[in-house]
Amino acid sequence: MNSTNAMNVPDFSYESRPVRVVFRPGAATAASADEAGRLGLRRLLVVCGRQGAVTARAVATSLGSLCAGLHSEARMHVPVEVADRAVEVAHAAGADGCVAVGGGSAIGLGKAIALRTGLPLIAVPSTYAGSEMTSVWGLTEHGVKRTGRDPAVLPRSVVYDPELTLSLPPALSVTSGFNAVAHAAEALYAPDTSPFVALMAEEGVRAMTSALPRVVADPEAVGPRSRALYGAWLCGSCLGATTMGLHHKLCHVLGGAFGLPHAETHTVVLPHALAYNAPAAPEAITALNRALGTDNAPHALWDLAGRLGALRSLAQLGLTDDDLTVAAGQTAAEAYPNPRTVTMGGALEVLRAAYAGRSPRAAALA
Ligand code: NAD
Repeated sequence: MNSTNAMNVPDFSYESRPVRVVFRPGAATAASADEAGRLGLRRLLVVCGRQGAVTARAVATSLGSLCAGLHSEARMHVPVEVADRAVEVAHAAGADGCVAVGGGSAIGLGKAIALRTGLPLIAVPSTYAGSEMTSVWGLTEHGVKRTGRDPAVLPRSVVYDPELTLSLPPALSVTSGFNAVAHAAEALYAPDTSPFVALMAEEGVRAMTSALPRVVADPEAVGPRSRALYGAWLCGSCLGATTMGLHHKLCHVLGGAFGLPHAETHTVVLPHALAYNAPAAPEAITALNRALGTDNAPHALWDLAGRLGALRSLAQLGLTDDDLTVAAGQTAAEAYPNPRTVTMGGALEVLRAAYAGRSPRAAALA
C-alpha cells in the first residue's frame, strides 16, 4: 500500500469473510450451544489437546445432547496421523460439525477435520495465536509441514471467552501475544494489505501490547485478559486477510526444520525481522510506532519482551551457530512477498541478530 499524498487512498482489494464472532466472558460454555443451534448442527465432535481437556469437557457438557463426543488428541503442527485418526472419530460419531477448544494446535486439528470432511467448524480459542480467523490449514508429514488456504476450514463461528485465557501462564501469554503482534506487523506491509487491515493491525498491536504488562502483573484479572484477546482477534483477522513475509517464513523454517517452539520463536525473531524490513516499509513502521508510543518499534518490541520476562535470543531457544546458515539458506530459497528483497546475506543478518539477542537498535548502530 503506497501513498505519497496523505489525501490519496491507495488502491486495494479486500475480501470480507463470513465468520460470526461472539466475544464475552463466560461465552465458551454459555454461547457454544447457541452457535451450534444457529448453524443447525445437532451432533458436534469437540476436539482439544490433552492439556486442554478439562476446559473442553466443560464446553462439551454445555452442549448437552448436541455433543457427539470429545477427542483430546490435538498436537502441535497437526501430524497427519493425528488428523487421520480424528477424521475416523468424527465419522464414527456421526458428527455433523466440530468444536475446537484450545490454542492453534486444537484449532488446527479442527481445521484438518473440516478440510477432509467439509464439516463446519466452531472455534473456541484459548491462546492469542489467531488461527481461528484464517482459512489457512497446516499438516505435518515426515517432519515437513504443508500449509494451504481453503475456505472450508475457516470457522463458521468463533467464540472468544476471556475467562478461558485466565489459565494461560503469564510466560505463554506474553509469547502468544507477540505471535499475534507479528501477524499485524507483517499485515501492515503485506502486498494485499488495505486501509481496513491497517486499522485493525494498528489497533490490534496497541491493544495487545498495552494489555500484556497488566496480564503479567495480574494474570487472574479479566479486564486485561479481555483486552489481550480483543487484540488477538484483530491481529488474527489481519493474518487471515493478508500474505505474510520474511518474519513468518523465518519462524516457519525455525519451527519446521529445527523444532523451535512456535510462540517463543515469534517473540525472539520479530524485532529483528522488522528492523531488517524497516527501510523498505516506512508506513508500516510509522503505524507500529503510533501503536507502541515510540519512535523505534523494533527496539520497543525487543524491550517489551525483555521487561515481560520472555527469552530474546535464538541461542536460548536451543539453536546452534551452525544452524544459522542452514536456516538462512532455506529462508532465502523460498518465494514469498516481502517489502525488502531477502538475500542469503539478509536472512543471515536477521538470524545472527536474533541469535545474539541484542537490541535491534544496537545491531543497527554496530
Ligand atoms: P498450542 O495450541 O500448541 O498451545 C500451546 C500450549 O498452551 C499447549 O500446551 C496448550 O495445551 C496450552 N494452552 C492453550 N491454551 C491454554 C490455556 N488457556 N491455559 C493453559 N494452557 C493452555 O499453541 P499456539 O501457540 O496456540 O498455536 C500454535 C500452533 O498453531 C502452531 O502449530 C501454528 O503453526 C498454528 N497456527 C496456525 C495458524 C493458522 O492460521 N493456520 C495461525 C496461528 C498458529
